[in-house]
Amino acid sequence: MENPIPPQLVQALLKQKYHVVGRHSGVKRCKWLNEALVHDRHCYKQKFYGIKSHQCVQMTPSLFYCTQQCVFCWRAQNGDLQIGWDEMQLPDWDSVESIVQGSLHAQERILSGYKGNSKTDWRKLREAHAPRHVAISLTGEPTLYEPLGDLIRAFHKRGFTTFLVTNGTRPSKLAELGEEPTQLYVSVCAPNEEVYRRVCRPQVSDAWTKLNQTLDFLPSFKCPTVIRTTLVKGLNMDNVDGYARLVEKAAPTYVEAKAYMHVGFSNLRLGYERMPEHREVLAFASSLAEKTGYKVLDECTDSRVVLLSKRESAVRFGSG
Ligand code: SF4
Ligand code: SF4
Repeated sequence: MENPIPPQLVQALLKQKYHVVGRHSGVKRCKWLNEALVHDRHCYKQKFYGIKSHQCVQMTPSLFYCTQQCVFCWRAQNGDLQIGWDEMQLPDWDSVESIVQGSLHAQERILSGYKGNSKTDWRKLREAHAPRHVAISLTGEPTLYEPLGDLIRAFHKRGFTTFLVTNGTRPSKLAELGEEPTQLYVSVCAPNEEVYRRVCRPQVSDAWTKLNQTLDFLPSFKCPTVIRTTLVKGLNMDNVDGYARLVEKAAPTYVEAKAYMHVGFSNLRLGYERMPEHREVLAFASSLAEKTGYKVLDECTDSRVVLLSKRESAVRFGSG
């Protein structure tokens, strides 16, 4: 099948420092990789779970495709910048091995820029050349990539941990993954169907029902599971009771309540004032904790994120 992606879209992504891998995958330097290498700071996932920011590859096998068009999303969506394409017209998929190798190669290209930077932490840069973690979360819906389980398995075989983020609209695909990720995230950014339609703008039929099916069988996963809620001021921060019902049903290991960040292509859709402050995220999370029996386990003010769990401490995957 011919790749229907407009060249202007690829240009726009390259301008935003995306590395396009093959026909439909991508890698982007996470802000926290840079912070770790140059400023000795790290992301909240290092704080919460021990994932080292400087050894993390942020990638997606679904750069141009998604089943939702969330208003807060940082990815380029059909219609942004007057560029149009069909986000659900899926391509012939690249092989797992070409995506793994292409992603690691892109990460090497990203790291090569640090050799000439006098502020680089050389020990960390050495370690960064041997990445240990893959965040399958950059943009798009990864469960659209047919051999997703094989992709996860291929990273595991190389000794990587994997965090997979899905929007939950493909429950049958998740159910047949074959290989579970190290940690599974399901984005839940609405307390009910009405808000879901407005904020997440599904592009597939029965998406709310499908998301609920995913939440129904989330307890069957052996890996730690997370409900991640991106909070947008004035759009989806009310009705904590609605969120509590979804959390109770899915019984995730964690809930991450996180502020919308005014970055990437979301700037075309939402104003800066839509970002809640950390204290507002904490108030939301605390109220959710009260209603669900979870407790506030950790928080990170830089990223405006609060971690809830019923555990005493989070499962850690590294020594950081
Ligand atoms: S875990 Fe996420 S936030 Fe942290 S470095 Fe990797 S991509 Fe960035
Ligand atoms: S599901 Fe994820 S990638 Fe898709 S539009 Fe929403 S935030 Fe963006």
